[in-house]
Amino acid sequence: MAPLSRRCFLDHTLCTAAVATVAGLPLGLLAGPAAARSSAATLSSRELTPSLRLIAASGCNVVALGSGTDVLLIDGGTEKEAPAVLERVLRDSGARHARVLINTHWHPEQTGLNQRLGKAGTTLIAHENTKLWLSRPIRTSWLPQTFGPLPPQARPTKTTYTTATLDFGAETIEYGYLQQAHTDGDLYAYFRGANVLAAGGVVSSDRWPLLDWETGGWIAGLVAGYDKLLRIANDSTQIVPANGPVLARPALVAHREMYFTIYERLVACLNKGMGPDEAVATQPAREFAAPWGSPDHFIDSAFRSLWGHFAADA
Ligand SMILES: [Zn+2]
Repeated sequence: MAPLSRRCFLDHTLCTAAVATVAGLPLGLLAGPAAARSSAATLSSRELTPSLRLIAASGCNVVALGSGTDVLLIDGGTEKEAPAVLERVLRDSGARHARVLINTHWHPEQTGLNQRLGKAGTTLIAHENTKLWLSRPIRTSWLPQTFGPLPPQARPTKTTYTTATLDFGAETIEYGYLQQAHTDGDLYAYFRGANVLAAGGVVSSDRWPLLDWETGGWIAGLVAGYDKLLRIANDSTQIVPANGPVLARPALVAHREMYFTIYERLVACLNKGMGPDEAVATQPAREFAAPWGSPDHFIDSAFRSLWGHFAADA
């Protein structure tokens, strides 16, 4: 594995923090008011629709749907930020209880609230593969130490293999599997009435994404994930990525074309017998690199993600 670039290192410091808290410290130590205060400054919150809010934590967008005294959440931020996220969600939505939390995938930025809410009896929803990952130790090259397993009460209590719907107040949420894309357990969640699509880890709008090939993500799957999201989104859909600003459909189309172009170039590299460093050196994202800085770590991961699908002897 190529060493992480500085940018990548910065991108994943949140993961590092989450790992440290899960693996090494009593969870309660980070759940008090002091932790909430220290994280509160990094949060921003705004209305998507009268009933839906977006709380932007430092590594994760959290979507909150309020209905009376109850709230439903899509993702929860890191464990370190969890107290502040919950406090902000409840305050801004006027709710008293988080009834449902949907994890779009297993990463620490998405699952930091699981322990706290699971203990309180919140329904935790995820893809079955996400539950499996959260139930065992995970070792990847981009996390400095083993993550998990999460305690039993922090694991999803309701899973899907494909798609499902959930009524919450006046809203219907359709959530579904994006197959092997960012990981092998990615879910989207579509709020049909509000016309808001929480895309989960498949979409990133402020940085090159992590393509977590070690837990089942791969570049062609990412493209296929975009295709599925594009079949759901219409011209007025607000698309909430895992991190970064909300997008409209044309941006999703542009991302899809970019990732498909990179995919085709990397397959060509593979067919020429190149390794990851050689593939990165061909700069397959050259015309797309500017807004997000060096794509090298993404390209390295995207190339390695091909091995399990095209190169059985790799
Ligand atoms: Zn992720």
